[in-house]
Amino acid sequence: MAGETLVMTVTGPVPAGDLGKVLPHEHLFINLTKQIMIGGVINDADLIAQELAAFVEVGGRTIVDLTTNDNGRRATWLREVSQRTGVNIVMGCGYYREPYLNRNHVDELSIQELSEEIIREWRDGVADTGVRPGIIGEVGSEQHITSAEERVLRAAGLAHVATGLTVSTHAGRWPNGLAQIAILGAEGVDPRRIVVGHCDTVPSPDYHEAVARTGAYVEFDTIRGSSFYSTERRIGFILNLIRLGFIERILLSHDVCLVPHLLAEGGTGFSYIHGRFSELLLEAGLNKAEIEQLTIINPRLALTGE
Ligand SMILES: [Zn+2]
Repeated sequence: MAGETLVMTVTGPVPAGDLGKVLPHEHLFINLTKQIMIGGVINDADLIAQELAAFVEVGGRTIVDLTTNDNGRRATWLREVSQRTGVNIVMGCGYYREPYLNRNHVDELSIQELSEEIIREWRDGVADTGVRPGIIGEVGSEQHITSAEERVLRAAGLAHVATGLTVSTHAGRWPNGLAQIAILGAEGVDPRRIVVGHCDTVPSPDYHEAVARTGAYVEFDTIRGSSFYSTERRIGFILNLIRLGFIERILLSHDVCLVPHLLAEGGTGFSYIHGRFSELLLEAGLNKAEIEQLTIINPRLALTGE
């Protein structure tokens, strides 16, 4: 249809209206062994196809895979499992964070050159595959934003200005989403095009509110049972932002990134949020329209920037 907004997936552009229920922060293939030795690699396409079947069973349609080159992204495998399962997969790009950054590379190139690598991939696809990213990230930091992390954040900001792709961040355990927004903002990124990741690993409603007030998305994305904090506490974070009038700023995801998170390994897999967790939100007083806002409308707008 003329004028219809498209989102780039690993199998090509898809109309934004067809994205359906979206998980905005997941990892289908990943390698976190720089920090986590046991269960830190997910690299089994058959297993992931099975896990995605469970996602389809709860009505899921689209997964955003925020793995980058430096932590095990697999462009052709993403395309293969998307074709096998019918799930839309939006692939990330850019540079992750310490200690995953390839410092020789990141320190050698200018910020401009780093951004050009992202822009080239957006334009031509991942080398030898043609698979094109539909979002920048995850890119970010933990306790302190190091100089290398700041440089790749700035490169992500420049690449956003050139490509229009949303920037999704890793702001794990420490409340540095606001500093990330400031750095990206200095490169010309409107906060409405920024998703601040892992906000539910920072147990501060004041922080969540401050991020929402900038206009950025507040992503509660470690929703997988009692990971970090209890499910009750996490629902409290969501209810608090809704009460403050920020339902349009909230995103929900599982951040599956370790083998024990998978359904086959006793975890909650990719089907918890649209399954059991949605029931818990109903029990907590949300209505169906509000759940649709959180799981369909918000992630679509986060991807398209409309
Ligand atoms: Zn992360």
